[in-house]
Amino acid sequence: MKRLFLTISIFLLSISLVLSWGFWAHKRINHMACFTLPPEMISFYKNHIDFITEHAVDPDRRRYSDPEEAPRHFIDIDHYGTHPFDSMPKYWKDAVAKYSEDTLKAYGIVPWHINVMMYRLTDAFIEKDADRILYLSASIGHYIADAHVPLHCTENYNGQFTNQVGIHGFWESRLPELYGEDYDYFTGRAHFITQPQLEAWKIAEASFTALDSVLSFEKKLSVIFPEDRKFAYEQRGGTTMKMYSQDFSAAYNKMLDGMVERRMRAAIIEVGSFWYTAWVNAGSPDLKDLDKPLTEEMKKKLSEEEQLWKTGKLKPKGHED
Ligand SMILES: [Zn+2]
Repeated sequence: MKRLFLTISIFLLSISLVLSWGFWAHKRINHMACFTLPPEMISFYKNHIDFITEHAVDPDRRRYSDPEEAPRHFIDIDHYGTHPFDSMPKYWKDAVAKYSEDTLKAYGIVPWHINVMMYRLTDAFIEKDADRILYLSASIGHYIADAHVPLHCTENYNGQFTNQVGIHGFWESRLPELYGEDYDYFTGRAHFITQPQLEAWKIAEASFTALDSVLSFEKKLSVIFPEDRKFAYEQRGGTTMKMYSQDFSAAYNKMLDGMVERRMRAAIIEVGSFWYTAWVNAGSPDLKDLDKPLTEEMKKKLSEEEQLWKTGKLKPKGHED
């Protein structure tokens, strides 16, 4: 009994640690977005592809050291009524006037934060500040990717209201880790986004539209699969963890009919397109003379952030409660 309790605790702990596309998927999305860029941008991004890839996960780490960070990763849009995408003002000031800043932050701000990051990235291009271009490109890639996850757009983000606890990590970490190597990540060229703020809302709305399938398919399969076939125990890093079984994962993935792959592909092209749009809006600066290693200052900033993450005691609000 004690062992079972310990195993379940680890299972639940593992859920709380993966409330965002798994690290694997975030890194893959940022990495592949580099290949969507036009010739004027691609060599700069390719030269720094390791940085863009590795730092795709920094915003999740910041949640443990910065109290402002957590709400930037999601929006519980169903909190705002039955037609939330019609009633929610698309621009921050209007939304604050209607609902108050505290309310917006309590239920997540990812679409607005993407737009804020867009302004910052555009400024970095105008100033030709290579460090900031890289840092902000990696970060905005993370937020755009998060907005593509259906379970980042609902109050029922981990199936906690529908007896489906664990579905969050299952959809966005376990499935891409099991099947992601076979996905097709070549998505074509990045395009110019005329209205980045509205584009961010389009992404969230598409995610929310997919939510019903994410939850209902798991329910349907749970009727067919008895508990002992639905879950399995796997060794991970020396501990036994309760996971969705391989059979259940395969059946769910089949029923989703490529949804995880589609959302990852959509994220890749959007990330590339936001980077490209920021560069165009900055006047298409020549990036050739920016191709130099990171400055000592940026290296110091990054190592400080990593240190904060390792020692951070903060319990992120919102989706991690
Ligand atoms: Zn995240």
